[in-house]
Amino acid sequence: MPAREHNYWLTTGEMPTANVSGILPDSADVAIIGAGFTGLSAARTLAKSGSRVALLEAESIGWGASSRNGGMVLTGLKLGVNKLISMYGQEKTRRMYAASIESIDLVEKIVREESIACDFSRSGHLEVACKQKHFDDYARQAEIIQREFNHTLRVVPRQDLNSEIGSDIYYGGMVDEISAGLNPARYVAGLGTAAMRAGACIYEHTRVQTIQRGSHNGAPGWQLMTSRGPTWARDLMIATSGYTSKTTSALQKKIIPIGSYIIVTEVLPEGLAREVSPRNRMIYDSKNYLYYYRLTPDRRMLFGGRAAFFPETTDSIRRSAEILRRGMTDVYPQLTNARVEYVWGGTLDFAFDIMPHAGQMDGMYFSLGYAGHGVAMATYLGQKIAEFIMTGRDENPYAGIPFPGAPLGLYSGKPWFLPFAGLYYKVLDWLT
Ligand SMILES: Cc1cc2nc3c(=O)[nH]c(=O)nc-3n(C[C@H](O)[C@H](O)[C@H](O)COP(=O)(O)OP(=O)(O)OC[C@H]3O[C@@H](n4cnc5c(N)ncnc54)[C@H](O)[C@@H]3O)c2cc1C
Repeated sequence: MPAREHNYWLTTGEMPTANVSGILPDSADVAIIGAGFTGLSAARTLAKSGSRVALLEAESIGWGASSRNGGMVLTGLKLGVNKLISMYGQEKTRRMYAASIESIDLVEKIVREESIACDFSRSGHLEVACKQKHFDDYARQAEIIQREFNHTLRVVPRQDLNSEIGSDIYYGGMVDEISAGLNPARYVAGLGTAAMRAGACIYEHTRVQTIQRGSHNGAPGWQLMTSRGPTWARDLMIATSGYTSKTTSALQKKIIPIGSYIIVTEVLPEGLAREVSPRNRMIYDSKNYLYYYRLTPDRRMLFGGRAAFFPETTDSIRRSAEILRRGMTDVYPQLTNARVEYVWGGTLDFAFDIMPHAGQMDGMYFSLGYAGHGVAMATYLGQKIAEFIMTGRDENPYAGIPFPGAPLGLYSGKPWFLPFAGLYYKVLDWLT
């Protein structure tokens, strides 16, 4: 069992190197902080319209969650539709749901337009029920989604589930054919190349340390101090997701960074791969403390979960590898002898209401809170916020929804409650 972090996706291709180095520009039209899906999608859109974009990344292109995820390009939002309708009403929920489907179309369009070789494939997703009552709810959800959003989900009873998955521990499943899979590292690399081709300047190893309002030649804007010196921008966008720090403390107080971990096996024999996932679905289970898994394009089992709640450290990665291996063999006893060759972790960004949030705060543009559904949504909202910056019209469907902080202000950006939250969700899974 490898204990050292080793991301399988990063072995499948090269990340592009930034097109600029040395000192930062005196000024830019828009500065973006963070070179993941959100920042790169925004940079590509802005640069294509002629804006001078400086994208500032503390590490390197795609270093954050964008190269570390499961590559599941999913429909829907983290919260169920009933909950969404009760929170936002029918019309707003309809727009949010439509956007979640549109976001997958957008990823497909960008992949095609920019010729990104990232194995994008509309393989569909399968949610599997860990309890009978979870399965009983699927029919209800499918009916609401058909009626309200004209979108079809297929409920698969337990006796037919072996056409979808080679595991008999589940009570049934629900399939959405619209979802897709891709190789996230190649996708984020391709987005980076596309943004630079459009004219965006990407500065790697440039950590933004402080942000202040400040004018430049009489124009109002933002004075930034970075690890590579100062720069100024008329507009500023924050795209730092689970890695948001005290540099933007107002946002940091609203986002809980949560660790998620992945193991990847050796290449499976063709017959075994077909047996475990006959339709090559993106699969996740119905628990709060959930497992998600899929085959990679070269037939390895990629198995992920919130095995430890804390953001990634050498120790949490080592412990997670053991927990995930046990989880994988509980689901698939036939993988008991499959060697685990890769393990790594990354940080998810959860808002307190488990919703994405995008718009403007204290004059800065931002988009984050994807709660594990960011591959498509970060691409989509990055583009929407870029359009907002260009047109002054905020047309993203989450615009204006309340963005709650911690109850009683009990959170300053240091998630002291994560062990309790982990325990809470384990108990919740046991009870519900
Ligand atoms: C293990 C794991 C599995 C996942 N699986 C899936 C999945 O299958 N499907 C799905 O839809 N989503 C999944 N997600 C979520 C998805 O990966 C994220 O929602 C998405 O990548 C967020 O993209 P982003 O560009 O907003 O942020 P990130 O890719 O995290 O980029 C943020 C960047 O900001 C930089 N940064 C932070 N502070 C500063 C600063 N002060 N100055 C300069 N730079 C800074 C960081 O270095 C980082 O590179 C998963 C996430 C993880 C961790």
